[in-house]
Amino acid sequence: MNLLNKSLLQTSAYINGQFVSTPKTFEIHNPYNGKTIAEVSDCGISETEQAIQAASKAFKVWRKYSAGKRARILKKWYQLQLNNLEDLALILTTEQGKPLAESKGEIKYGASFVEWFAEEARRIYGDTIPGHAGDKRIMTIKQPIGVVGAITPWNFPSAMITRKVAPALAAGCTVVIKPSELTPLSALALAVLAEEAGFPPGVFNIITTQDAPSVGNTMTSSPLIRKISFTGSTAVGKLLLKQSADTIKKVSLELGGNAPFIVFDDADIDKAVDGAIAAKYRNAGQTCICANRIFAQAGIYDTFINKFSSKVKELELGNGIDPQVIVGPMIEEKAIKFVEQVVEDAQGKGAEILTGGQRHGESQTLLYQPTVIGNATTDMEVFRKEIFGPVAPIFKFETEEEVIEMANDTNYGLASYFYGRDYARIWRVAEALEYGMVGINTGMISTTVAPFGGVKESGFGREGSKYGIDDYVEIKYMCWGGVE
Ligand code: ADP
Repeated sequence: MNLLNKSLLQTSAYINGQFVSTPKTFEIHNPYNGKTIAEVSDCGISETEQAIQAASKAFKVWRKYSAGKRARILKKWYQLQLNNLEDLALILTTEQGKPLAESKGEIKYGASFVEWFAEEARRIYGDTIPGHAGDKRIMTIKQPIGVVGAITPWNFPSAMITRKVAPALAAGCTVVIKPSELTPLSALALAVLAEEAGFPPGVFNIITTQDAPSVGNTMTSSPLIRKISFTGSTAVGKLLLKQSADTIKKVSLELGGNAPFIVFDDADIDKAVDGAIAAKYRNAGQTCICANRIFAQAGIYDTFINKFSSKVKELELGNGIDPQVIVGPMIEEKAIKFVEQVVEDAQGKGAEILTGGQRHGESQTLLYQPTVIGNATTDMEVFRKEIFGPVAPIFKFETEEEVIEMANDTNYGLASYFYGRDYARIWRVAEALEYGMVGINTGMISTTVAPFGGVKESGFGREGSKYGIDDYVEIKYMCWGGVE
């Protein structure tokens, strides 16, 4: 990798302010060509326990820093991320595959949480409450919850860390992070910059491992960890929630989605096409807020699928390092196999492949063609399962009631989208969708300033916005008596 700042490419875990290597390591691969990029420390239970101990000790120090002092260190970390934007993006694309322009976008998006929560650190206000008796006065204060265990996925290897860690650190918590075994290099690069920013030892720790279940269990069973914040699959989220029950930890879960993307007859079709492409093919369809099911109303169905398919055909597939590439490789063989299977299932049940529908070139490649499927129906797997790949099934609907019912017919409830102009319907539909987030006439909804999160089996807790810090603080109330 041709980095300007070579020190950003770290392969050792980061515990108590030290990069710590282990005798056992595991390989990290470039998903575009399968080449080994690095060998990374493979930590186990004992390193995880050391990190938890270090974070617990550091908590006593860090929580006492003034909000302003914590904010200054966070701001420095933010600035360092921007100063190293090119290198961080290159590391990200090399280990994850997404196009370089998207990686730069992710680094800026990730850094924006650090800036935002550096500012929020000074605004963790309490209340004064009129007392319930003449001699009573009541006040509340918000205090950091303690050591936070953060478990993050491979699809946003940098931003999913900053989105959790920035509010935690701003509140005065310390963190032990377990990044995905597929993409630990972006996490370790953030550690290099965290050290340079001046976080005291033990405040920020990273455990790299191939053994997620053991490290996860060590985190959830430790009484020293007071909070688990997880982004990933619903299955693992349920497991972590169960494991956290014995020590009654506060838990935030950002899990899978099955986003509807609805286009009503009165929509601006060209804008809806562009919005659907943005919401579907970003990161090769591998985001939890990707449009999973596109519903087009009968009056515009043909126009929509024609315009949409012809634009999708033009999306350049290839190596994320090449500037013209819009869709990169998928993350691993398991993921592309799953996509092949759901496309086959849809075809078997009468769907029409309008473009794409297979792997690109040789059988060992992780490139899957941007695909559009027409005549999709609710008995197909693509209706229920999170596709997590560059495949867009399009369903035809007649009425508003019918589409709301189909859209809500899922256990998930993360993102949803719709396009239309009738303002009364916009309110009705936005209120009726059982989702944590609704994009109205837009396919791009992620921003630091808004609360990101889901309902139903998509999880709970909100990341970003003025609410993001709530997950990392406890409210304590003080009742003052004897005020005669
Ligand atoms: P995906 O299907 O998107 O890879 P996962 O839920 O498997 O999502 O992975 C998200 C994160 O959860 C990764 O960091 C992964 O290592 C971690 N993980 C997977 N299984 C477990 C587990 N049993 N305990 C704790 N963490 C886990």
